[in-house]
Amino acid sequence: MHRAVCPGSFDPVTLGHLDIVGRASKLFDEVVVAVGVNPSKSRMFTADERIAMLERACGGFDNVRVASFAGLLTDFCRANEVNAIVKGLRAVSDFDYELQMAQMNASLADEVETVFIPTAPEYSFLASSLVKEVARFGGDVSRFVPDFVHAALVSRLTTGPTSDPTSDLTSDNTPADPVPEA
Ligand code: ADP
Repeated sequence: MHRAVCPGSFDPVTLGHLDIVGRASKLFDEVVVAVGVNPSKSRMFTADERIAMLERACGGFDNVRVASFAGLLTDFCRANEVNAIVKGLRAVSDFDYELQMAQMNASLADEVETVFIPTAPEYSFLASSLVKEVARFGGDVSRFVPDFVHAALVSRLTTGPTSDPTSDLTSDNTPADPVPEA
């Protein structure tokens, strides 16, 4: 069984992420999309909201599941019998950092290989942070994220932090708080 992880913050998931997940799903028996939970970082969407959006966005892939992790990714890999970390590479600017991470992770767990997948050209400029920034200033980002993510983004930006734009996505109706993550 070859199992890979696609780690990230996914705040929120974009079509660039989904392109990488879909391509990884063809290379591996199973792909785990793992949402990093780091309480010290402020996010637009809570971990539960990001997971719910990913579960919906990845629903069409038979061999993809969504999980979360806190702490070292290599510990998550060991605990989940994951043999490969899949990262998308957009530009040279990604490469420096990703190479450093890959080498550090290899030194922590040499049984886990990092695999880089080059971004599709149409998504090479796409990052969650940029999508949020453009959306904040009223730009149309509907081409870059799934429809329901776009609706959640617009709702969060227009109704503010007390709204729960993804309440229909979370199974347990956990109240949404846009700042803390866990
Ligand atoms: P972002 O940079 O969008 O905030 P994340 O931290 O959630 O993304 O990234 C998770 C993974 O997805 C990383 O490996 C990153 O390189 C990859 N990724 C993000 N956006 C794209 C994209 N547009 N094309 C290819 N890979 C991407």
